[in-house]
Amino acid sequence: MSAAQQPNTFHQNIALDEDDFELVEDDELAGDAQVAGTTRWKVVIIDDDEDVHNATEFCIKNELILGKPLELHHAYSAEEGLALLRQHTDTAVALIDVVMESPDAGLELVRRIRSEGLSSLRVILRTGQPGYAPELAVLQQYDINDYRTKTELTNVRLICALTTAIRAYSQIATIEEIRAGLEQIVHGIANLFNESSVSLFSQGILRQLAALLKIPVNGVVCVGVRNAPWSNSATEMTVISSAGALTSVGGSRLSELADPRVKEVFIRLQESGEEVEPGSHLAMAFRSKQGSQLFVFVDINTPTTDADVALLRVFSANVAVIFDNIELVERLDELAHCDSGLRIPNENALSRALQKLMREPGEGHALAMVRLPEFGFVVSAYSQEVGQRYLLQVHQSLTALGEGVVLAARVADDTIGVLYRRSVCSAEQVHASVPEVVLVDELCLAVSPTMSVVDVPAGAEVDSLINEAMAGLCVAQRTVRGGIHHCSERARKELAERASLHPALVRAIGGASDLTIALQPKVDIETGEFVGAEALARWSLDGASISPGKFIPIAESSGLSRLLRDKIIGEVGAWARERAVHGATVLPVAVNLSLCDVHTRNFAETLMKRLAEEKLGPADIEFEITESGMMESFEVTSRELGILKAAGFRVAIDDFGTGYSSLSYLGKLPIDTLKIDRAFVADLDMESAKGSIAGTTIAMAKSMNLAVVAEGVETLEQHAALRFLGCRVCQGFLYARPVLARDFAKSYKDWSMQKAFGAVAA
Ligand code: C2E
Ligand code: CA
Ligand code: CA
Repeated sequence: MSAAQQPNTFHQNIALDEDDFELVEDDELAGDAQVAGTTRWKVVIIDDDEDVHNATEFCIKNELILGKPLELHHAYSAEEGLALLRQHTDTAVALIDVVMESPDAGLELVRRIRSEGLSSLRVILRTGQPGYAPELAVLQQYDINDYRTKTELTNVRLICALTTAIRAYSQIATIEEIRAGLEQIVHGIANLFNESSVSLFSQGILRQLAALLKIPVNGVVCVGVRNAPWSNSATEMTVISSAGALTSVGGSRLSELADPRVKEVFIRLQESGEEVEPGSHLAMAFRSKQGSQLFVFVDINTPTTDADVALLRVFSANVAVIFDNIELVERLDELAHCDSGLRIPNENALSRALQKLMREPGEGHALAMVRLPEFGFVVSAYSQEVGQRYLLQVHQSLTALGEGVVLAARVADDTIGVLYRRSVCSAEQVHASVPEVVLVDELCLAVSPTMSVVDVPAGAEVDSLINEAMAGLCVAQRTVRGGIHHCSERARKELAERASLHPALVRAIGGASDLTIALQPKVDIETGEFVGAEALARWSLDGASISPGKFIPIAESSGLSRLLRDKIIGEVGAWARERAVHGATVLPVAVNLSLCDVHTRNFAETLMKRLAEEKLGPADIEFEITESGMMESFEVTSRELGILKAAGFRVAIDDFGTGYSSLSYLGKLPIDTLKIDRAFVADLDMESAKGSIAGTTIAMAKSMNLAVVAEGVETLEQHAALRFLGCRVCQGFLYARPVLARDFAKSYKDWSMQKAFGAVAA
């Protein structure tokens, strides 16, 4: 029997008709009695008639209602009554006279009470004059329980009315309390969700339970090994958090706990899952979908109400769900920080370890990137699996350095990042710890690691630190193959500068003015005429010019080179149109192409579309492209350049001699011109001309039917040597410097080679 089903039950002391009489069981009373947290029901009598106060008090003073005595308070006006109710917000019932200071002072009082949010309070209105009964709508609006004439309220009737009102109050208060508790659970659960590790989560459970039960909690939370069977699992359960009298050392076994109840309850719970024993304990046990077990045991030696029990059930149901989720999150977290093939830490793990270091800076650390150049060969010659085992052995040898190594993580296919303590080991030791050969089955495989090292300064930005070490690896491969490259402060600054320039470069490429071209004439040194010009990108940022040596690599590494190229072509187009308007002869302009651009999809096709937009044909424009890297991608490069050549456009190999092109490949490339690098022009003189690299190149170009251009010509001596070697087209400061396209016509209006030489001689 529940109170809700029996709204008209009366207290056992009241002798009424048989039908009205009902006994309320003790334990149910006990539950209700706790609800408001009081031991007495507060009743406020508000009436301007002293006699009514006396009569009422006489009638109910010694009554027990729902097992508890009454506590009476008196007020003699509506004003006074309001003050009293504000003071005693846990009042169960107010007996209010309707007519006091004014004919409806009582009603007005009730309106104010309700508008102030005192909603649990039950109200019984009393009036001396039957004719003053308020309308039904008013009774409902103000949630008034009962309306009686004073004469109607005989002893028994009054107590009946009071009992009904108090029961209603008690139910409302219980619901109110549950609502507040649920609110707290919802809030607590949200907090638990934030605590993404099982250990934090378990502390959260104890904290939330303490808040819910409003007592300091004596409790313990244990977790069980994943997939351990239920049987004998009590020995597998270990304590991860504990509080109060049950505090025990983290990591202790459940079966070793001093309080034997804990283990007993756990064993019992394997079937039921949850147990709330008022006056003794609350326990919950769950098994997550991943197979881990969670067990919570909390002492509840204080009296527990029905409301508490109901709340604990809701709480425990939610804990089960979250436990599942947190387990999942932990699994995902583990996956996110683990190399899927090797089951060793990955780049995320390295970045997390670095982040942790940043939060607790202490001794000096360094980050090394160890690249294994033979890895690719091992995989392609044998198998992925042999490759994995090869890498794993190197990883093991690195971690075998012991406490010096904080973490060794696979950060790329063939690269392991090592975070180490500088006080314990040196870069050389890290490098030397990698064996020269590893054995996979019968295979003897060589390892020649190339390594780059950066110091880990306090407060560094983790991502850029990793980038820096990786970038250092590229330098290392060029300069110290098989050795160690220490990334300098300068390299770090350059990298930071790159990153900071990128957004401005994006704007400049998209914008109208601050990125433009300079043109440097190419001269036929036999006729003394311009036979072309090279377009060189010029960028000024906030008035300062930034050299292409700086921003071109940024554009290339950030995928901007195609946009940059289109922008340059636009400038060339505008310049050519302007020249045509003034009736000047057509001068082919050479545009520099980035190799990475050539490797983008449909390179030649999109380039030619862009040229068509600018109405630039083979007479107006040609291309230069550096040879380094070209051989590795010979097929793509030769196909794309072939399309340009077939359309009539001329292509030159730039900086010739600085790359490592094999001559047999060179012969097959669809190109027209070799541009001799400045380095080979610099030391040219008449005496050594014939046997110089420039001399050989010129002879070779002739035999291959290629044109030659010499660049970086600065002196008359170099000029003479090149002329002697038969190089007709030259470019350099000796003849003409690059000038902004818009100044070209003016700068070179009266140009002649004699004048240029005169200027040099003077
Ligand atoms: P590059 O293609 O070898 O261009 C020639 C560089 O040598 C230019 O430097 C030019 O100003 C400089 N130079 C010309 N004559 C002389 C001389 O007599 N003595 C000396 N010491 N230098 C001379 P700049 O303009 O600083 O360009 C540097 C590099 O940046 C270029 O080398 C080219 O590789 C790249 N670059 C410039 N503009 C572009 C572009 O629009 N696209 C691409 N992809 N690269 C570009
Ligand atoms: Ca060039
Ligand atoms: Ca060049």
